[in-house]
Amino acid sequence: MTFNYNIDHFQERTECPVCNSSEFDVLYANSMTRNPVLSYLESQYRNQGDFDQDYLTGTDYVACECSKCGLMFQKMVPDGDLMGAIYNQFIQHEKTLARAKKSLSAERFIYRTNELVSLTTLCDKQLCDIKLLDFGFGYAGWARIASALGCEVYGVEISPKKKEYAAGLGVINISEEDAFNMKFDIVHTEQVLEHVGNPKQLFANLAKTLTPGGLFKVAVPAPAKTRQTLAAGQFPAQSEFDAGGESDIAPLMPLEHLNCFTTQSINRLAREAGLSPTHLPSVRLVDFGTRLNPIRMTKELMRPFYRRYGTDRGYYLFRCDS
Ligand SMILES: [Zn+2]
Repeated sequence: MTFNYNIDHFQERTECPVCNSSEFDVLYANSMTRNPVLSYLESQYRNQGDFDQDYLTGTDYVACECSKCGLMFQKMVPDGDLMGAIYNQFIQHEKTLARAKKSLSAERFIYRTNELVSLTTLCDKQLCDIKLLDFGFGYAGWARIASALGCEVYGVEISPKKKEYAAGLGVINISEEDAFNMKFDIVHTEQVLEHVGNPKQLFANLAKTLTPGGLFKVAVPAPAKTRQTLAAGQFPAQSEFDAGGESDIAPLMPLEHLNCFTTQSINRLAREAGLSPTHLPSVRLVDFGTRLNPIRMTKELMRPFYRRYGTDRGYYLFRCDS
């Protein structure tokens, strides 16, 4: 089966970007400039920036599933220039900053603080001695809290506007190259690995920056019903982004979510990089937020167990043993 892509803006992945197997199934394929993929993208970016569909002419959205490691991935991935256009033109700081600020709820602050405090307690160091790298920090929703805790927080980010914003929140901006030559006690990646064309290389480079005993957090979209929905050809005509919801195909959304990890695929990356799975303490500084909501309380209490014993859960923690 052959598919099209425009070599001026895309690259083709001919094998699984995690295990290098060339055995994979195509779950769904369609032109990016034909509905429903096109209308999905138009609605996704309508209120985020200036979407330019000319970049997509001649390229197919091809969703695949690796037969060996279970990774779902897009066969065609944007090149560096198109990546720049997606994250600086299709998505513009002026339009997304207000949304990012509104998302800073008290509940989210408590949730993130709980997790970061738990991570630091596993480091066995004074907070001021902990060096944390937030790779792809976005609007510094996590980095700002780590900085407030007293950690030395470094960040790598593609958007100049986000870098400027984060600098005012105590984040030390460094380049990817600089980061790969430094050492950190915590490498924090929140919704990052799904966006990159070569997750194996990035994972390995980040793993090498860990100090002995250092922690690597990976949070990525959980697969949910992505496989079944794509295999049934039920690609939605509209993105649910503006409504604040997520469709089943969001974990593999065109242009942005290039990889959708299973537990098996992410564990493979970690094993090859010399890292071992670990867990946050089951008993945490649990706070239930600002409202006493029984459903929320139950969810918070169950979360550590769900993450520890569930599969394909989208949250992973690893430790550097040597
Ligand atoms: Zn694979």
